Amino acid sequence: MLQFSNHRTRKTHEMRNKYDVVIIGGGIFGAAIFYHLLKYTSKKVLLLEKRRICNGATGRSGGFIRLLHSSLNLCDLSTKSFDEFNQFEKKIGRSCGLIKTGFFTIDLYKNLPAIEDHLQFIKSRGFQIECLTSQDVTRRFNYLKMPIDEDKVVIYERDSGYADPIRTCKAYLSAGVSLGGDILENFEVQSIETKNGKVIGVKSSCSNFETPCAILSAGIGTDGLLESLGYKEPKFTKKIIHSSFYKYPLDNLPFPTFLDKTLGLYGRDYGNNRCLLGLAEEVEQINDNQKSYSSMKITRKLTDIASKFAPWITHKHWIQGQGGMDAYTKNCEGIVEFLPEITGLLICSGGSGVGFKLAPEYAKQAVLKIENY
Ligand SMILES: Cc1cc2nc3c(=O)[nH]c(=O)nc-3n(C[C@H](O)[C@H](O)[C@H](O)COP(=O)(O)OP(=O)(O)OC[C@H]3O[C@@H](n4cnc5c(N)ncnc54)[C@H](O)[C@@H]3O)c2cc1C
Repeated sequence: MLQFSNHRTRKTHEMRNKYDVVIIGGGIFGAAIFYHLLKYTSKKVLLLEKRRICNGATGRSGGFIRLLHSSLNLCDLSTKSFDEFNQFEKKIGRSCGLIKTGFFTIDLYKNLPAIEDHLQFIKSRGFQIECLTSQDVTRRFNYLKMPIDEDKVVIYERDSGYADPIRTCKAYLSAGVSLGGDILENFEVQSIETKNGKVIGVKSSCSNFETPCAILSAGIGTDGLLESLGYKEPKFTKKIIHSSFYKYPLDNLPFPTFLDKTLGLYGRDYGNNRCLLGLAEEVEQINDNQKSYSSMKITRKLTDIASKFAPWITHKHWIQGQGGMDAYTKNCEGIVEFLPEITGLLICSGGSGVGFKLAPEYAKQAVLKIENY
C-alpha cells in the first residue's frame, strides 16, 4: 500500500515550509498536475489533501474512458488524454488499469447531425469510431440481449473502456514523489493567504506554507475556499450514483462500457460476474446536509431505468450502491484558469462528471499556464 506523509508522520520527514507551488486537493486533477509539474518543470511542489488521497469524486469514479464528448474542445482533450492512458505504464511507471472493452454511446438518430463533426475530428486523430444501427448491434453483439430501438444509433469506439481512478491517481503521486515532490495527507487547507492581491501562502489545519502560487483543485471543496476569498464561483454540483448488479444471464460474457444518453444511464463490467450501472442527478448549490450519496429512492429509480436498457436486470440483481459528488460548470467544461484578480491562484476544477478521463490533458494545460505565468 502506498503511504504518503501526514500530520502524524510529518516530523519524520525533512519537509520544507516554502514551495514554488502548493496544490490543494489529492484527487485526479491535483495528482496529475503534481506529476506533470515535477516532470516538466524544476519547481518545488507540495500537495495538501484534507483527508486521504482520492477522498473525493476520484475515489468513487466509474473510471469510464471514452472519446466522444459534447464539444470539440472536450473531444480534443479526450483524444489527447487517451494517448496518456494508453501508454501510462511506460510513461508513469505503474499501470492505470486500462481495460479496452469497447464503448457504446447510445443516442437518438435525430441528434447525429449535431455530432457529425465530433466524429470526424476523433477519426482524424486516428481512432476507430463508427455508427451502428440496432441491427448491427444485434448482429455483432447478439449475446447482450439489449433492445436498441430503431430510432436510436450506437456510436461505437473500439479502443475505449475504463481504467482504475485510484490506481491512476496513486501512480501519478508516487511518480511525483520520486521526482522530489512532497505530499501531506490529513492537512486541510483553511485559507489561501494573499497580500496586495498576490498569493503569499496557504494556511492548513496543521501548518502554514509560504508560496507565490496555489493551485486550487479541491473538487467540490473549491467553492468554499474561493468564498473565503470573497468569490462566488459559477459552479454547481452533481450527485452521481452507481450500483453493482449481478450480470446473470450474461455471466462471464464481456459487458460493453456504455453511456445511454436517451436514458441518462451508464454502465460497465465490474468483474466477478457483476456490472456497474449509474445515473447522474443535478444538485444545485450543495451543502453538507445533502452529502448522503445513495438513497433507496434513487437506487429504485436507477434499477427501473436499467431494466429498460437490459430487461434481465431486476431489483433482485442489485448488490450494492454508492456514489459521490462532482463539481460541475454550467457548460460542463473543466476550469483551468488563473483568477484574474489574485496573482498566483490557479483554479483547476469542475470535472463535470467526465474529469477522470480528461485529467491528463487538463494537467498539461495547468503546467503550461504556470510556466508562462
Ligand atoms: C460517482 C462518480 C462517478 C464518476 N464516473 C466518472 C467516469 O466514469 N469517468 C470520468 O471521466 N469521470 C467520472 N466522474 C467524474 C470524475 O471522477 C471527477 O470529475 C474527477 O474525479 C474530479 O477530480 P478532482 O481532482 O477535480 O476532484 P476530487 O476527486 O473530488 O478531489 C478533490 C480533493 O480535494 C480534497 N479537498 C477538498 N477541500 C480541501 C481542502 N480545503 N484542503 C485540502 N484538500 C481538500 C478532497 O478531500 C478531495 O480528495 C465520476 C464522478 C463521480 C462522483
